[in-house]
Amino acid sequence: MAETKHSLLRALTLTDAIALVADRMIGTGARGTMLLSLRQKFLLNFMQTSCALLAGLAIVLTLPVTPASVADAQNATEFDIVLANGRVMDPESNLDAIRHVGIRNGKIAAVSSQPLRGRTVVDAKGLVVAPGFIDLHSHGQDDENYRFKARDGVTTALEMEVGASPVAAWYAQREGKSLVNFGATVGHIPVKMAVMKDTGRFLPRDNATNRRATPDEVRQVADLIKQGLDEGALGIGFGINYVPTTTRSEVFDLFALAAERGVANYVHLRHAGAVEPGSAIGALQEVLADAVSTGASLHVVHITSMCLRQTATCLNMIEGAARRGLDVTTEAYPYTATQTRLESAIYDEGWQERFGMTFKDLQWVTTGERLTAETFARYRKEGGSVIGHSIPEEISRLAAANPRVIVASDGLIENRQGHPRGAGSFARVLGIYVRQQQALSLMDALRKMSLLPAQRLEKAVPAMRAKGRLKVGADADITIFDPATVIDRATFEQPAQYSEGIRHVLVGGVFVVRDEKIVEDARPGRDVRRPRGSPPQPARERIQSNRLHHP
Ligand SMILES: [Zn+2]
Repeated sequence: MAETKHSLLRALTLTDAIALVADRMIGTGARGTMLLSLRQKFLLNFMQTSCALLAGLAIVLTLPVTPASVADAQNATEFDIVLANGRVMDPESNLDAIRHVGIRNGKIAAVSSQPLRGRTVVDAKGLVVAPGFIDLHSHGQDDENYRFKARDGVTTALEMEVGASPVAAWYAQREGKSLVNFGATVGHIPVKMAVMKDTGRFLPRDNATNRRATPDEVRQVADLIKQGLDEGALGIGFGINYVPTTTRSEVFDLFALAAERGVANYVHLRHAGAVEPGSAIGALQEVLADAVSTGASLHVVHITSMCLRQTATCLNMIEGAARRGLDVTTEAYPYTATQTRLESAIYDEGWQERFGMTFKDLQWVTTGERLTAETFARYRKEGGSVIGHSIPEEISRLAAANPRVIVASDGLIENRQGHPRGAGSFARVLGIYVRQQQALSLMDALRKMSLLPAQRLEKAVPAMRAKGRLKVGADADITIFDPATVIDRATFEQPAQYSEGIRHVLVGGVFVVRDEKIVEDARPGRDVRRPRGSPPQPARERIQSNRLHHP
């Protein structure tokens, strides 16, 4: 492209060259009649000047007409926002260099080695300028949670596991009111709870866990999932472990539906832990087999909390399947504890053996207390959130260091209570695993937080092709942080603590965090949705095209 411009410029006539000089002096942004006439006046004046000026012009013309001077001409235009002097890192191109980023109309309009002019210029010297982080697993989908997301560098928060239903209403509730971008799958769990009239809150606790669905209920579940996909849901979310009476054939049929619609399945496996029968490995085999035989894409959520000490084996299974052409990905949050509701099926009989935990490894969220046999029984009847300290640190590090494992929080903060992952997951990977432990490179970490989650979605959701990258034409969802200080502050005792070192965050070219403070009135978050009438893709073609992403 630059080469073509170069030879074109060489072929300019004298008059054109004068016009070019005129353009450079009055700005190439000059368009429309008023500015054209300004240009013409300039040309006339220029022609009327003395021979001495023509000599000067000869010097101008002998200056090398290089692509750089074309860039200079472009730089004369003003951007809405310029992020100057930052260390720009783009995990797609592997660009890692000092650059100036120009933003216009919510998009990245320039990434330049030369300074740019902007109505707002932010000096990012010493800071990393990266694509905004994409959280595939954010249960917290309200303003309280979006604030923690933004302060952790997340510009798109998606609820892909539990998901939503009804989908249209879920989106309508958030439109025009959100700090960050949002989206959801249609969730097998909420659909099943509605059809089977479960009385649980967020997760099932009775009808959907205790009894098997009738054939008619299974049909109703499938119909509601189809409806959710029709309404733009990003995929199908599963938490099979929470609805354990769900048959394998029901899961298989829904995978076939996902394949037909060209969307991925986001799955919390049927089992966790190592006890056979009923291990996480067996549960992973179930969904890998369903993905192979239906051609559906598969994303396995929070791999460490399912596979625990067998995480390395589970990662090998996923990697092996990907190498053989299956479209399969996984994610983990960088913590050594789980969180879920105590009354759910996760804590059915046998949990100590399954998870290698005892009562004192359980922490009641509302009080922070460790449980006993007596409080376990009481709270399970009452219902509420519990943290389970079950993931060994070396397992958390193994997943954090693996360049294929996407970073996703699984977070939910409610009235300042919850698990620290809801507030600190992304800064924690950057601060603990990249800077302190050097378990992975900064570029690999950014790839796991931005490009990989965007790629996970983009085959079904074309809008995601403009996210997860820092390049011209991409959405201006940008996170600017200090790599020397970025760190999580949320703890199990005090989860509602903002991360530190995430200096500025933009969503669609609008600041939502500036100088480590939330911009209070900003609501630039947009819905991320599948376009209506997305054509189904033949399964065979989908499997082959995915091979490219998993060499
Ligand atoms: Zn889960």
